[in-house]
Amino acid sequence: METKCTLCRHTIPDRSLQRWCACGWCMDPNCDRNHRSFCPVHGSERWIGAVEL
Ligand SMILES: [Zn+2]
Ligand SMILES: [Zn+2]
Repeated sequence: METKCTLCRHTIPDRSLQRWCACGWCMDPNCDRNHRSFCPVHGSERWIGAVEL
């Protein structure tokens, strides 16, 4: 069973790398982090106090 990342549509090779967000998207860890700025669930409050490039 292969799962595709909702954000970049790449296949996630390892199920342990899947990240199910509360918004319903399934992503790899990198895309999970990247999508949070526009995620309807996490929104921008996640960014308070966080400094990221
Ligand atoms: Zn991805
Ligand atoms: Zn999300």
